[in-house]
Amino acid sequence: MSIPATQGLLRVALPAPLRREFDYLCPQPLPAPGCRVSVPFGNRTMTALVLSHPADSDFDVTKLKSIGAILDPEPILAEAELRLLAWATQYYLHAPGEVYFQALPTLLRKGEAAAYRSTAYWHLLDAEASVSAQAIKQQQALTLLRQGPLTAGELEIRGISGAILQALAKKQLIEKRERLPEPADWYTAATEVTADDKPRLTTEQALAVSLIQSAQGFSPFLLEGITGSGKTEVYLQIMEPVLRAGKQVLVLVPEIGLTPQTISRFQQRFKVPISTLHSGMNERERLDAWLSCRDGSTAIVIGTRSALLTPFARLGMVIIDEEHDTSFKQQDGFRYHARDLALLRARQLDIPIVLGSATPSFESLHNAAGGKYQLLTLSQRPGTATVAEHLLLDSKHVQMHAGLSPQLLQLLEQELSKGNQVMLFLNRRGYAPALLCHDCGWLADCERCDAHYTWHRHSSRLHCHHCDHQRPLPPVCPGCGSQQLVGTGLGTEQVEQALSGLFPQYGIIRIDRDNTRRKGSFQQHLDGIRNGKYQILIGTQMLAKGHHFPDVTLVAMLDADGALFASDFRATERFAQLYIQVAGRAGRASKPGRVVLQTHQPEHALLQDLANQGYHHFAHSALQERQAAALPPFSFQALFRAQAARADQVQTFLQQLVQQLLPGLPSSVLCLGPLSAQMERKAGQYRYQLLLQAGNRRELAAACRLALAIIDTQASARKVRWSLDIDPVEL
Ligand code: ADP
Repeated sequence: MSIPATQGLLRVALPAPLRREFDYLCPQPLPAPGCRVSVPFGNRTMTALVLSHPADSDFDVTKLKSIGAILDPEPILAEAELRLLAWATQYYLHAPGEVYFQALPTLLRKGEAAAYRSTAYWHLLDAEASVSAQAIKQQQALTLLRQGPLTAGELEIRGISGAILQALAKKQLIEKRERLPEPADWYTAATEVTADDKPRLTTEQALAVSLIQSAQGFSPFLLEGITGSGKTEVYLQIMEPVLRAGKQVLVLVPEIGLTPQTISRFQQRFKVPISTLHSGMNERERLDAWLSCRDGSTAIVIGTRSALLTPFARLGMVIIDEEHDTSFKQQDGFRYHARDLALLRARQLDIPIVLGSATPSFESLHNAAGGKYQLLTLSQRPGTATVAEHLLLDSKHVQMHAGLSPQLLQLLEQELSKGNQVMLFLNRRGYAPALLCHDCGWLADCERCDAHYTWHRHSSRLHCHHCDHQRPLPPVCPGCGSQQLVGTGLGTEQVEQALSGLFPQYGIIRIDRDNTRRKGSFQQHLDGIRNGKYQILIGTQMLAKGHHFPDVTLVAMLDADGALFASDFRATERFAQLYIQVAGRAGRASKPGRVVLQTHQPEHALLQDLANQGYHHFAHSALQERQAAALPPFSFQALFRAQAARADQVQTFLQQLVQQLLPGLPSSVLCLGPLSAQMERKAGQYRYQLLLQAGNRRELAAACRLALAIIDTQASARKVRWSLDIDPVEL
């Protein structure tokens, strides 16, 4: 039956984990693709996104339902963005609704209007206002507000808490006023976009800047620069002509990299509106920032992974800092890689894209070697900052004190006595990673995971770091009643305790997820480090990224052995990246730095390579090994993961899938599994996986499509939770 002339068909995406689109009837005139509509679905009403106006439906048109209401008079996503998301749906073979809705802020998913709401802004009441020199934060707040009104959220991300604002309000220096954000016309105003105090570029920086600036259209660059070599300065300078031309710039940073320090560097340089987009924002702030990207009233957007999916009115350049960071890959739901999608977006828009890192991912190095990216290198630090000296300390036959060798303690003492700061890294929080009964051998194991509880001595609790389950420390051994419960292995709490006994005269701060939970506490700790309250800094990788502490002259990694023997083939790449990242914390200013690594394998080729030849050399040899083993980036992978409360259900599902899949696979596609996940049981779920690997993406995608078609027919699929991860970064 045909459709009445007064009506038309809409194909829409619905936010549901179903790998298909849905058709609805709609009265003419039809809303354009990119508009939201409300539709009946089952016995609910849902918000849907219009994708196209098909001429016909695969379904019986007489049975199609009509939409409820049109929610947007104009499309909220433009054609280019819809194309990007359509491509992502195909590439990641994921439910279209989840892909498209990922690009919308929560409030729009819920059906709210795509419009600004008036927001409370803090205003300066007196341009001359000042406070006493001791009130550093209050002064900072006044300085910020002198440049224009800001919201409490914008101030918070710059390190100004609500309490500081209240204190200033009480002194009647500032005031909160509600208003709609004014559409900024930074791109029409003929004002200069930058402040004028720029450093003189080093030769390497100048070369990088001029090559990027002379690029026409889509041109991907890989900027490989050692920590402190001035990559950020390169970003700032290449952005300038883009902004001057009225185009927007998107800067993607890792989850942990969006610090007040990062933002203030951009703010100090540019006189144009800057927005941030990150997970710490509330729903309203996110929507407002999203709207300001879309209507072009913000010039620079600094954001984490999901900022890539934001619509832009006039995007002119994309920069991805720390491009190797795994937080760019989403690990659940729609498992996209923001770096890979960013490249696609830049190609679509025909604009330059710059990937920067001290430790580029093997994928990017491989692309640079193959000529897909132009490689730009910064091998030196500007000015007097020197590159650190690397020491490998042999832990074999050495009597350790809480994981610290006498030689390391001596080195710490030397630096501390000179008034310097030292930094110790251990990627394990808590006091000890296991609790053991010295009398009967009982071990505190998590009931729901194949893992030991970590003993947290401060809180006197046992904590499973895999399923987050916690319980109080047992007073005696539940096995034999003995009181001899002891921790085995080393966590950050233990290192902190040992060092405070050994060096009581110095301030010690531990930085890990346990003691940075409270809002603002991370910032407080960082301030304490910078103003010299602490000399000994202990932390997990939270402390490794992006922070610049001029007085740190020694950094030590307490335990490197785990990473050398891990089963994931990417473990050494990650270790090398972390090591270089950590090493980059030493000697960033004029003081020379030292990097110490404690290991039982000082002669290990990888460690020797890293310590003596640096990351690029290491990566080159490691890439040859990957090539010999035909592992990514020399091949492509897809991973089917499945889990259920019963192991046999998961095994049956994957075994049946393999049986039906194998006859349809060409010999060039490798099918490995079902294998148990690294941790078979987690949070009470048994986890297995099936890995597909192929020499080209087309064959891999075809194999995945075949597997998905088989799963659609499998009854056993309904008893498990399964997912498909294209280009997985963790196996
Ligand atoms: P990276 O991003 O590579 O770690 P940064 O851009 O943060 O390096 O630069 C490290 C330090 O060197 C910063 O304090 C920065 O201001 C300074 N810097 C960068 N480029 C120059 C330059 N050409 N001359 C002087 N100082 C510079």
